[in-house]
Amino acid sequence: MVLGMTKIYKFQDDISTDARKELEKHSSLSVDTEGSGLQIPHRDKLSLIQFSTGNNDAYIIQPNRKNYKAPNIVKILENQKITKIGHYLRYDISGLEYFLKCDVKNIWDTKIASKLCRTYSQYHGLKDLVQEFCGKKLDKRLGSSDWNKSLSELTDAQLQYCSNDVIYLHKIKNELNKMLVREKRLELYESSIKFLKTRIKLDQSGFTEDIFQH
Ligand code: MN
Repeated sequence: MVLGMTKIYKFQDDISTDARKELEKHSSLSVDTEGSGLQIPHRDKLSLIQFSTGNNDAYIIQPNRKNYKAPNIVKILENQKITKIGHYLRYDISGLEYFLKCDVKNIWDTKIASKLCRTYSQYHGLKDLVQEFCGKKLDKRLGSSDWNKSLSELTDAQLQYCSNDVIYLHKIKNELNKMLVREKRLELYESSIKFLKTRIKLDQSGFTEDIFQH
């Protein structure tokens, strides 16, 4: 279906093999997830997974919450050749790895990058980055809505909302990457992102505080 300018492809349980082959043609994909709440994985569950190729499209998948079997999605997530761009992946990767039992490879986090190069701002939300780099105003009010409804019950506004969370990330990544180079912080960014998977393991083991703090 088409919503506004965005082409939306909806899938139950997993993307089709054809869709996976289409996504595999791209060297970078943006990814986002919606859950039944923010306390993933112990209280809340993974409800939706979204991808975009950066060409105004959104692949929206409702995983099977009984078994979370999604081999085609796992193939994409574990593909070392495809960069997965996300905003605050500490949340999304934790849910994806826990529920889909996979190891997400090659990740790029726009929130970490923003904190390292946009030191002139204290606002690093996706909404702030979309405003600055894409000149668009994101309406984040639907963020906390019921994503566990069946795929056909999700409203156009909800579909538009969860598409908006992935369609701008390629552009934002490109801009932030240029800034990291300009500010000579690319290396610092790269070593920070290497720690992210460890940070997530700490979260999942109950060490949610900053273990480096005095
Ligand atoms: Mn989202």
